[in-house]
Amino acid sequence: MQRLVVLGGGESGVGTAVLGKQKGFDVFVSDKGRIKEKYKNVLINSKIDWEEEKHSEEKILNADLVMKSPGIPDKAPLVNELLKKGIKVISEIEFASLYTRATIIGITGSNGKTTTTMLTHHILKNGGLNVGMAGNIGDSFAQMVAKNDKDMYALEISSFQLDGIETFKPHIAIITNITPDHLDRYDYRFENYIASKFRIAMNQTEDDYLIYDADDPVVRDWLDKHPVQSRLLPFSIEKTVENGAYLKDESIIINIDKQHIEMSTDTLALEGKHNLKNAMAASTVAQLVKIRKATIRESLENFQGASHRLEKVLKIQNVQYINDSKATNVNATFYALDSMNTPTVWIVGGQDKGNDYLSLMPLVREKVKAIVCLGLDNGKIIETFGSVVDFIVETTSMQDAVKISKEVAERGDAVLLSPACASFDLFKNYEDRGDQFKQAVKNL
Ligand code: ADP
Repeated sequence: MQRLVVLGGGESGVGTAVLGKQKGFDVFVSDKGRIKEKYKNVLINSKIDWEEEKHSEEKILNADLVMKSPGIPDKAPLVNELLKKGIKVISEIEFASLYTRATIIGITGSNGKTTTTMLTHHILKNGGLNVGMAGNIGDSFAQMVAKNDKDMYALEISSFQLDGIETFKPHIAIITNITPDHLDRYDYRFENYIASKFRIAMNQTEDDYLIYDADDPVVRDWLDKHPVQSRLLPFSIEKTVENGAYLKDESIIINIDKQHIEMSTDTLALEGKHNLKNAMAASTVAQLVKIRKATIRESLENFQGASHRLEKVLKIQNVQYINDSKATNVNATFYALDSMNTPTVWIVGGQDKGNDYLSLMPLVREKVKAIVCLGLDNGKIIETFGSVVDFIVETTSMQDAVKISKEVAERGDAVLLSPACASFDLFKNYEDRGDQFKQAVKNL
């Protein structure tokens, strides 16, 4: 019996363990931290061996194959030991893809992965396809392959998952955009992170497709210097492209070979330029898999966006409150500010990831009337924007931030939570931060 060791007992680890067991491996799950109760129950019910709060090296180094969860860095000493012994270390998507014949749509990028994955899944499902949504979103891919395999998958894929692939090949890949993120895991070299994202296309051939943002100089330059086998389908909101998606007047045009579709941008459910791009990428997939034009149009109109992404919470005294807690980097916040049509009270701050706020300056000058800092270290925000806005204040609780925002907002304004920072200084995660915002708004 082949011995499969799974490092990390979270969503992807436990999914892999269940699939591995089903495929006849002798499986052992090892987690250095605590394993959540719900996952322990799955392991116990599936009769899978596990340990927590330790890594029993002897057992682990005896593996034939190791699946490493994305949270564990490649440089972890244990991973080094495994590689030294010549033991293969792969990611969950690599493992799961070995056991399904489904057509895979793989979606990566720095921002917009979740939205684009959900939108793609929504259109394809409305088109009657037997399509699953997995990866960084909801259930793990491995879990779905084990329990409820589909004909097609829309997978949200992080760079850490891509670092552990060998043969994984999406028939259709999307790179939404690339801006610096997670550099601590890439030796602080941006090119390492870019290369990691492009691994999504490394096994593609000329029968496969790579959909990408042609307005993103990072993506364009990389492609110029590192050609791929895949058929390229760019999307752009700035220029016309021959094969791919672009804007003409108030419409999205998608041209693939002789196939042509035109959709009005007025009726799109999601607002903001970034969502135009997400809609273009998802609709390009839909057209490739031959969803009817009317279905694509309707799906873009009735899509319910994901929570915490430019989510409209409530209008109180004609002030619109918007939750964009998922904006954990400057680029995401750029698009949030860009999409604001009314004077904005901006709640910003949190755990700084080496942010440079200068790119936001023109938008802040144009749209922001007041800044409410919410975080433990607001120095850089105050330094950058202190002399630009009339009102700037520091807070350390969501309740205070929302209360002060209400005081400075006037009828017709918006209050936008778009932190541009990680949430771990004051909150459990970005969901907790967004939920606290929504609750504080409801309490007003
Ligand atoms: P991801 O899964 O890559 O983190 P999300 O869809 O969850 O992406 O969106 C994360 C944040 O980025 C949100 O604040 C959202 O408004 C913003 N965003 C969404 N799509 C894009 C895009 N194409 N470009 C830039 N920012 C985006």
